[in-house]
Amino acid sequence: MASSSGEAGKVSSSAEAGPLDIDELLGADHGRLDNGLHYYVKTNSTPEMTEYLCLVVKIGSIVEDEDEYGVAHVIEHLAYGETSKYKNVFEFLRTSGVESGVIHARTSHDSTIYPLPDVSLKNPEVLCNAISVLAEISTEIQVSAEGLDKERGIILDEHRTTWDLDGRMSDAFWTAVMDGSKYTHVSIGSEKVLRNLSPKTVKEFYGKWYQLCNMAVVAVGDFSDTKNVVDLIRIHFGSKVSPPGPHPIPEYPLPFHNVPHFSCLVEPESDEPAVMIAFKMLVDEYKTLKGFRDMLVHLMFLSALKRRFDVIFHARCHLVWEDSVHPMDICKIVLSEQMEPIETVESILLEIARIRLHGFTEWEVSDVRASLMSAFETAYSKRKGMDSKSLCNQYIEYFLHNEPVFGIEVETQLKRRILPEITAAEVSKFAENYRTSCNCVIVTIEPRSHVTIEDLSSSVLKINSLEKEGSISNLEHNITKEIVSRPPDLG
Ligand SMILES: [Zn+2]
Repeated sequence: MASSSGEAGKVSSSAEAGPLDIDELLGADHGRLDNGLHYYVKTNSTPEMTEYLCLVVKIGSIVEDEDEYGVAHVIEHLAYGETSKYKNVFEFLRTSGVESGVIHARTSHDSTIYPLPDVSLKNPEVLCNAISVLAEISTEIQVSAEGLDKERGIILDEHRTTWDLDGRMSDAFWTAVMDGSKYTHVSIGSEKVLRNLSPKTVKEFYGKWYQLCNMAVVAVGDFSDTKNVVDLIRIHFGSKVSPPGPHPIPEYPLPFHNVPHFSCLVEPESDEPAVMIAFKMLVDEYKTLKGFRDMLVHLMFLSALKRRFDVIFHARCHLVWEDSVHPMDICKIVLSEQMEPIETVESILLEIARIRLHGFTEWEVSDVRASLMSAFETAYSKRKGMDSKSLCNQYIEYFLHNEPVFGIEVETQLKRRILPEITAAEVSKFAENYRTSCNCVIVTIEPRSHVTIEDLSSSVLKINSLEKEGSISNLEHNITKEIVSRPPDLG
């Protein structure tokens, strides 16, 4: 295992060559068992005498066929019921001191994650029990009609609460953004499928996809020696065998388009109109120095844009950067206002067009650079407190999406080096990615029907032709001054 300072040295030189050598950056005891299981074990002493342990399965709801909608999540629930070794995993976790009673497992489009947080290392038996449970989940979940019926009720309840106003609004947005791809399918599944789901369908899905080569154990904790933990993983997982396979995980096309997509929704329960504008971008996920630099340019662009929007929309505009669908970033501008949705859409598009025409000022960009650098340095000064959970999440991302695990020393070094090199012109140029011809989706939500798709389409045409004619003026000097003098808010 390389020391932190050794890793930092390596990055400086490999950064010059271009690609980031992510294996060199890993800093964990890692490898694979003969049956294909990956493992990552890392020593970290915050919090003391505790471990964050996790089974990561590279399978989520996206691989479900229509008659299986919701099965990946059903398996996540069944994992805490009966396995070959345990009659009731949840009870065993509770009584053996591994887990106090709250289950944190989660199912998304491309993964199912079974974490066991805060496993105490004071008693070696507890760690042994925790790893044993994850090994059971990997291949030994029992699917009985009785167990399935019990979980079905709980999941249908979850299904109902997902469809409250917020749930409906975010689903409507998600459907518009992912339209034309399989990603419109939500992980909770469909009520019809859930009601009729048979143990046979669940067993088939589990056997087909829960292959050990699609799984990793991640353990980050205050270990005296990582070798002991690797040995325990070997003892509990080593004899596991996957059913015949493996089945290659298909790649699902992402919805990219060069004309804007529109959606106008009526939601009687909402009390004010809302506008959401999204831009989707293909990213190389920081696997190269260029990818890392592009991420920083994007971050500076969004921070500068947020400051302008805070002045124009009185801090009511939210910018959300979402990366749950790999390798795509979705940047969402959300504004709920008493303003007419059309007026809101035009104001947002106009401001982005203004940036393309006139750029951000040097002031705005140097201000953003300074506050980002200060936020990075604050995080760096607290680095000793980097907890095992955050580190565990980095290894999960590495396993799932090959995102490098930098460690804060290396990451801060890269930021210190790259951030001062990024110019105002470069940040302004990023607005090219925010054209309505670049995978743009505009959604309005109103209590009563009013705005139409034709209205939205003519708004886009209107702002595009103003930009083409060059008839959008630069910001008034006093407004840019107000933008820079506002306290930074990077949320
Ligand atoms: Zn659930």
